[in-house]
Amino acid sequence: MWHGKARALLAVGFGMALEALACWLIGRLGRSSSSPSWWWWWWLWRRRPPSPVREVLFFPSRVTCVESLLAEETATPCACLLPHGESALGRLLTRLLSARRSLDLCVFAFSSPQLGRAVGLLHQRGVHVRVVTDTDYMALKGSRIGELRRAGIQVRHDQDSGYMHHKFAIIDKKLLITGSLNWTTQAIQNNRENLLVVEDRDCVNLFLAEFERIWEDYNPAHYTFFPKEEQQVQKKDKTIPQTKL
Ligand code: ZN
Repeated sequence: MWHGKARALLAVGFGMALEALACWLIGRLGRSSSSPSWWWWWWLWRRRPPSPVREVLFFPSRVTCVESLLAEETATPCACLLPHGESALGRLLTRLLSARRSLDLCVFAFSSPQLGRAVGLLHQRGVHVRVVTDTDYMALKGSRIGELRRAGIQVRHDQDSGYMHHKFAIIDKKLLITGSLNWTTQAIQNNRENLLVVEDRDCVNLFLAEFERIWEDYNPAHYTFFPKEEQQVQKKDKTIPQTKL
């Protein structure tokens, strides 16, 4: 008889425990839907949009090996004797190589082998590359413009009516790199120069408009291969201080 009573008590106790558990769960769900708990805020924080890029690079750059950035396959670590840390040139290369769709480059002097390789790599990867440069400087020894053209990259240049003296790049129509730096080893390793890297829609749009304006001005369809006399005189007056590039 006691055996039967004990069984009944156990059954009642089990039922009450189940009911208590259900009430606790319902209460917890109710609370979590009305006031989000910490994990909800953490999930929102993780999904927040990234902050816009704002970076300043100063030159001369520390001389470092940038092979790991430029090599398509990095199976073995580079064994060269150069330091392998951060540098302004390394940061610039990293920003350039982040391009996925387009690179619009407007640069007065372009002879840096590393930057030349980076632009060539982007072209190989299918990034749409356009280059605007200066007629006089693109013809100098060491200029990368010839090899970029041979690789199939579109290059346009001025027609002797003053230097094309800009130094800016626009990546994927959303990131602007601009400043005093010419893309030469001399400037990168010896000169005091600056670059601003900024993800600002208004600035990017203004620079893009300027790029498109120049791109159209330098359309080969408008080239005059027999310049007027005054333009020839103007060209003679230009001096090219190569050591200051
Ligand atoms: Zn190395």
